[in-house]
Formats: sequence, C-alpha cells, structure tokens
Amino acid sequence: MRTAGRHFLQIPGPSTVPDRILRAIDMPTIDHRGPAFAAVGKRALDGMKTIFKTDSYVFIYPASGTGAWEAALVNALSPGDKVLMYETGHFATLWCELAERVGLQPELIESDWRAGADPDRIEERLRADKANDIKAVCVVHNETSTGSVSPVSAIRRAIDAAGHPALFMVDTISSLASIDYRHDDWGVDITVGGSQKGLMLPPGLSFNAVSEKAMAASKKATTSISYWSWDAMVGPNKNGYFPYTPATNMLYGLNEAIDMLNEEGLENVFARHTRHGEATRTAVRAWDLEVLCNRQGHESGVLTAVMMPDGHSADAFRAKTLAHFDLSLGNGLSKIADKVFRIGHLGDFNDLTLMAALSGVEMGLDLAGVPYRAGGAQAAMNQLKDTATAKTAE
Ligand SMILES: *Cc1c(COP(=O)(O)O)cnc(C)c1O
Repeated sequence: MRTAGRHFLQIPGPSTVPDRILRAIDMPTIDHRGPAFAAVGKRALDGMKTIFKTDSYVFIYPASGTGAWEAALVNALSPGDKVLMYETGHFATLWCELAERVGLQPELIESDWRAGADPDRIEERLRADKANDIKAVCVVHNETSTGSVSPVSAIRRAIDAAGHPALFMVDTISSLASIDYRHDDWGVDITVGGSQKGLMLPPGLSFNAVSEKAMAASKKATTSISYWSWDAMVGPNKNGYFPYTPATNMLYGLNEAIDMLNEEGLENVFARHTRHGEATRTAVRAWDLEVLCNRQGHESGVLTAVMMPDGHSADAFRAKTLAHFDLSLGNGLSKIADKVFRIGHLGDFNDLTLMAALSGVEMGLDLAGVPYRAGGAQAAMNQLKDTATAKTAE
C-alpha cells in the first residue's frame, strides 16, 4: 500500500538527503580522467578542507565510514603497534575490533556508555606509558550509539600535558558539519568522516583529514596497504584527480552540500543542531523519561538516546512509530539493544521537522503502552517558539 507524504527518517544517519543534493547527483557520469573532471575533484577536495578546518591533506574514499576508519589506522601505524581507544559506546567498540583485525594492539578504556571520553583518564594512561609504546589515541567525537560528545580539544591538551608523542585520531563520522570541529586548531592528526550524516549525502563517501605529522608517520609505517594508500592519492589529488575511479556523482552531491553549508554558515549550522538537541531533551524530561547521556556538557546536538522504562521494549515502540506514522527512529545497539531508542536531529532539519518527530514519538509512546507523562512535544514547542529567530525578512 502506498504511504502518503514523506517518510520521516529520524535515525542518526543516514539523514534525509535534500532535493538540491539529489538534483546535483542526477547528472551524467563523466570521464574521471578527462579535463572536465579536474574542477569537480578539486572543488570537493578544497571544499572539504573548509569543513574539516584544515590546511593540510584531505583524502576522499568511495567507501562507507568504516573504510575511512581502516584507512586511518593502516596508513599511519605498523603491525603490533599499541593504540589507546576509549569505549564511549558501540562505534568506539567497533573501531577497536577493526584495529585488532588489522594487526594492531588496541587497549580500550572502559566506560558506562553514558558520557564522552574523559581527558583525565587518557592523560593518566599516557603518563604511565613511560616507554611511549602507545602509538595513537583514538576517540569518537559524537558517539552515535549513545548521543554523547567527547571534548576533543581537552583531550589534545591531556595528550600534551602527558608529554606523549602518540598520534591523535578522531572519528567525526556523525559530527562533521553538525557539531563544532577544528582539525588544525585542535591538533588532531587524523580525522575520519563520512557522507551520510551531517553532510546530508547518501552513504558511500568517507574521508581522512591528515596532519603533516601523520603523513610523516605514514612514510615509516609498515602495514601492507594498497587501496587505502594516502601516498597513492597525493599526486593525482593535486590536480583534482584520483588514483582509481572516484564516486563521480557523489562528488557532484558533495560539492552541492558544501555550498549549502557555507550558504547557511557553519556556525549557524552548529547552533541549529545545539538548539534542536536542547528542545529534544526538554521533551524527554517532560515525558518523564531519561536521556542516556548523563554528563552535563557532553549531550549531543545530532541525536538523543532515550532510555525505555524497565519492562518495556524500545524496538516494539519503534515498530509502532514506523507502522503508524512512517517515522523511523534509531535502535539501541549491542549492550543497550531494545533498552533505548534514538531520535536523530541532524542534517537538513528544521523546527517543524523536529516537531513532527517529537509528535510521532509521543503518539507512539501512547500506542505502545509505555508509561509517560503527556506534554513533551508541547514543552519542546514552547521552547522552540521562545528561542525562534526569523530566517528571512518578515
Ligand atoms: C555511522 C558511524 C560509523 C560507521 O560508518 P559506516 O558508514 O556505517 O561505515 C562509525 N562511527 C560513527 C561515529 C558513526 O556514526
């Protein structure tokens, strides 16, 4: 049966792809070695530097975010290298498992999945590493499974305070172009990004932003690599080309996305996400439910993970919102499966998109028989109204 109206894809990635980007992608695929392609490739590579806020290298892979995770590790490190990772949630755990599979020795700082990474614990571990055996510190900026944000610049200061030479790697797959991020200013060596979240594109592109220090480390690294090699990219990238066939149509979309972000202004994009996160948490508290992130200042503007009352299934509730209102909410992953649901409020998203999502959640709670207090959507509406600003002339 046909479902009228648009689908509400309120999961924390993939996010809804705006029409402008879909139209930009809807172009003939051209010769990626021909003269017309150079401008497309150059624009994408230069444009992504403004998004990562770096003057250093940016590499674009025709791969999901997982590919760029692997690229970061295998370019910069050698078999058996120790890496310090922080268990912010499911995605940090997956990156750690990947590190092990590619022959590294990851050490995971454990946590309860309710906050971002704690710089003090990282500093303490690095201070204890007198022999500098740890070659990299890896942190997830926005932990998409929990809705907690790690304080990246404070972690940089912690690494410096410990006087430790490890490379600093950050996963921004779900924070890039949604939450303030500064590759150069914050002294990050490798930033990993993906296309299908804040960048508003379909899945299929991912990124490494790379410092000079990480590039120098890659020259000495001995992991066998081919497809992911930064070295193979540098030469062709200088003129806007790639060593193998790039995702040409996705690059058209990427260039449109970068234009859209710059037209709105990155600072405005970040403020919009922050404000929608705040309104969502207001709704959750008014429903008398609990936000999973319990560390003040770490709450995410990209998504909010909500804890289900004991004895109630988050997945049964999500099935109701999908069946009745065509609203997709994010599920709980691994150890919090069926215990939380996630509301994505990222990408091409405005006040009324948020209100549609929160209304759907409130109606779904009722239909699923979950105990809650009515009025969460109303509370969010009041907050949005009180903080609204005109975006065009009145
Ligand atoms: C989505 C996501 C990933 C995985 O990316 P894929 O594109 O699914 O490979 C990794 N880390 C974070 C923080 C994510 O949000």
